[in-house]
Amino acid sequence: MITLKDVQTARENINDITRVTPVLTSELLSEMCGNQLYFKAEHLQKTGSFKIRGATNRVKQAALDGAKHVTAASSGNHGQAVSYIANQLHIPATIVVPVDASQCKINAIESYGGKIEKCGTTSGERLPRAKYIAEEKNGVFIPPYDDPFIMAGQGTVGLEILDQIKDVDAVVVPVGGGGLISGVLTAIKESNPKVKIIGVEPEIANDTYLSLKKGKITSIPATTTIADGLRTNQPGDLTFPVLQKYLDDLVLVSEDEIKQAFSLVLERMKQMIEPSSATTVAAALSGKLGLKGKRVVTVISGGNVDLAQLPQFIVSIENLW
Ligand SMILES: *Cc1c(COP(=O)(O)O)cnc(C)c1O
Repeated sequence: MITLKDVQTARENINDITRVTPVLTSELLSEMCGNQLYFKAEHLQKTGSFKIRGATNRVKQAALDGAKHVTAASSGNHGQAVSYIANQLHIPATIVVPVDASQCKINAIESYGGKIEKCGTTSGERLPRAKYIAEEKNGVFIPPYDDPFIMAGQGTVGLEILDQIKDVDAVVVPVGGGGLISGVLTAIKESNPKVKIIGVEPEIANDTYLSLKKGKITSIPATTTIADGLRTNQPGDLTFPVLQKYLDDLVLVSEDEIKQAFSLVLERMKQMIEPSSATTVAAALSGKLGLKGKRVVTVISGGNVDLAQLPQFIVSIENLW
């Protein structure tokens, strides 16, 4: 398992590339939730999500190991992050994306310098292809979450939260494969175990919820949640034990709750966050955290939205308060 020291080392290792992102507040949302709410704004991070933290830590290690190439299998934020950092380090990158990946995501990856390769429609097809290319080119495959360097890099979000906000009571983190939350758990629980850490998943992507309940890694069928960064169908072999050890609670939010939170943040805070991040705000608004009156940080994990999809995410918020 990674330790606090690994996360501290990661922070030293990545701080020439990543930003210390701001913490935002909203009186309206705090009032609606009955909490003092803070928003850790990773949608304002380089490449538009926290993924650049783990990717930088991992790709720098690959460079030290003499890698001549890196690959990733992701059309989303991880693909963009690997593309960006590889370019900064002058290492060629190939990002394997599904044949039906949106042009907007392809453009983002290419704008950072990565080469696109299209392959199949499932991760079962893309993963072996990305690993094969890595081997062929004397390179390294960069996994999205189940890797100690990735987890430690993502955990730097937790160190910043402790630095930036006094007397935090709880931190709410979205859960996909668990890279972000396992890093944050390690950083915060090994610094101040009194801080509660609560994970959030969409109701229809509840693989980690089920796994925790059963006490073993459990997978679910493919899901279509609008929180596309949380569509992984099972937690990682390395991330899951960290959640079992430290996690205080995991709450589920509906697709409607995600859309309401998204719309509220856009209209009232003027922030474009992505649905995967709106899950944490949705959890706070829902009352499911059970933390009335506490100082609660929601991790806004990213802000990459395909504008063509925007109308699907927006709902009326008039009746919410
Ligand atoms: C990847 C991602 C997540 C989930 O992170 P994991 O490390 O897979 O749990 C959440 N939000 C956004 C915006 C992401 O890109």
